[in-house]
Amino acid sequence: MARRTEVVDCDVLIIGGGFGGCGAAYESRFWGRDLRIVVVEKANIERSGAVAHGLSAINCYMGMRWNENQPEDHVRYARGDLMGLVREDLVYDIARHVDSTVHKFEEWGLPIMKHPDTGHYLREGRWQIMIHGESYKPIVAEAAAKAASKVYNRIMVTHLLLDRHHPDRVAGAVGFHVRDGTFYVFRAKAVIVAAGGASHIYRPRAIGEGTGRTWYAPWSSASAYGLLIEAGAKMIQMENRIVLARFKDGYGPVGAWFLLLKAYATNAYGERYEEARFDEIKALVGKYADIKPMPTCLRNHAMIEEMKAGRGPIFMHTQECLDTPEKEEIGWEDFLDMTVGQAVVWASQNIDPKERASELITSEPYVMGSHATCSGAWASGPEDCAPRDWQWGYNRMTTIEGLFGAGDTIGGSAHKFSSGSFTEGRIAGKSAVRYLRDLNGAGPAVDEARLRQLAEAIFKPLEEYRVGRNEFVAGTVSPNYLLPLHGLQRLEKLMDEYVGGYSTFYLTNEPLLDRGLELLRMLREDLDHLGAEDLHQLQRAWELRHRVLTAEAVVRHTRFREETRWPGYYYRADHPRLDDDAWHVFVASRYDAAADAWQLEKLPVHHLIS
Ligand SMILES: Cc1cc2nc3c(=O)[nH]c(=O)nc-3n(C[C@H](O)[C@H](O)[C@H](O)COP(=O)(O)OP(=O)(O)OC[C@H]3O[C@@H](n4cnc5c(N)ncnc54)[C@H](O)[C@@H]3O)c2cc1C
Repeated sequence: MARRTEVVDCDVLIIGGGFGGCGAAYESRFWGRDLRIVVVEKANIERSGAVAHGLSAINCYMGMRWNENQPEDHVRYARGDLMGLVREDLVYDIARHVDSTVHKFEEWGLPIMKHPDTGHYLREGRWQIMIHGESYKPIVAEAAAKAASKVYNRIMVTHLLLDRHHPDRVAGAVGFHVRDGTFYVFRAKAVIVAAGGASHIYRPRAIGEGTGRTWYAPWSSASAYGLLIEAGAKMIQMENRIVLARFKDGYGPVGAWFLLLKAYATNAYGERYEEARFDEIKALVGKYADIKPMPTCLRNHAMIEEMKAGRGPIFMHTQECLDTPEKEEIGWEDFLDMTVGQAVVWASQNIDPKERASELITSEPYVMGSHATCSGAWASGPEDCAPRDWQWGYNRMTTIEGLFGAGDTIGGSAHKFSSGSFTEGRIAGKSAVRYLRDLNGAGPAVDEARLRQLAEAIFKPLEEYRVGRNEFVAGTVSPNYLLPLHGLQRLEKLMDEYVGGYSTFYLTNEPLLDRGLELLRMLREDLDHLGAEDLHQLQRAWELRHRVLTAEAVVRHTRFREETRWPGYYYRADHPRLDDDAWHVFVASRYDAAADAWQLEKLPVHHLIS
């Protein structure tokens, strides 16, 4: 069937209009007044991405103007939290610029809470400041929309394009309009991928009436990784998937409760299990147990061990800290700004947080690059402070020429959060403009044969369904195709059971990983027979493909790293200890799509800050 095709030419193409993408649009316009800057987004940037629903805190702010913290302090914090393994150049680069980003947010209308005595931003914790953030995303998106030459909403990007004459150089991207089915070809000199992290790689705890509920946004569908992996970019830390301790069933965040309201957690018998388990944790990970605050994964570990020992449920004692009307308001607003579902769970379960404790639990794993975790692309570092082997061109450029990243896309730099992701987008935007000025007018050369091949492949699930429906056995079930939801459930189940999901208490080993990989490869074969009933299902089909490729990277990295570096995120039962002698390194991978082959290697970790 002939399809409408739109070809869009631009200088800078930004894929994903979330926090990284909005930062990239804003800053590339600042340096490139004359350039055609295009944002392409699968939803609508006004309410898209992980901040769609709003937030109650900005989690990365130094407060340098009040001498609260310096960038070096943040590097020490991120390094400690990630058990020694971060790209210190990238973390430092974000930390030194993030305050100016937050000041811009305030200028654009974001209400930031102030300390009544000092007038400084009200701190939730050392790095976090409190906001009235229900409208955080629309405020930031407005600035990006004004900066961009054009925002294309409702277009799902499925593939990156590489240059016909220079196969290591990016030439644009393709995708389809999720409402009218137009095939879109974006030809671009520089591309910035800011397509967010990945939920629904692992089976979520939520089932039945709560199906689909996850902590990280369910629409964060791994495109940041899927697009890059397929194009052959080098990835790092894909084994560093994160598990979060959150309020049970609603996934309500715990930061404001622990840090600002000073609530505490105990096991079912009222014991403070973290303190009680300290010696045991020290025996497991040595000096890393002494880091203050205790690394996120180790706090999870204490909770998991407590549950395994049969001393659950774990309780957060909210009733002990809501002793003033102001604190009660902060507690409720925390959820109403950010996770309304948690307030609904409380209401539906007759829980008044002022009266009784609430259950906490560890989540299913997620793949991300901006939280207390740092999966993502291997990127060139800042010119003034990255060691020689960590820079090969332009700041935040991946190993593909002209292809940049920001936010969850870039690996090795944890604890960016919303403000840091926007800041990284700004850094990538500035670099992309410099890169294309140096290109000196050379435009992208797109391979027409490849475009024809992609146009066919992208819409194939519609055709599979059209033909396969002739043999419906019930409802929309047919032996001739696989529906995206069924593929997703197969992925989640196998990742959960073989690659350390919650049902095995995050435990895996080499034989489990090998079997998981075998099943994953079979799933990949079956994806050629995905059937999509309509454009909505076609989007689900491509989200699934990005998730499956990302999952394969997770399996391969987890198998390669023969140690347990982050107990509480996952455990290699066959290598249960942290091994700094052999594994104080990054694990990197590169996928060769033509040969369908993966290469894994170790890359050195340099410490730049004492
Ligand atoms: C529940 C929750 C609580 C959080 N709490 C805080 C907090 O308190 N404070 C804080 O500072 N941060 C918080 N964060 C973290 C913050 O939201 C992220 O760090 C940040 O949004 C990452 O930015 P990003 O640009 O990488 O991804 P996102 O902001 O998620 O943006 C990705 C964008 O790409 C689009 N996209 C994805 N795939 C495609 C595709 N194939 N084609 C086109 N477009 C695509 C998406 O629709 C989205 O708009 C929280 C996140 C969540 C989910």
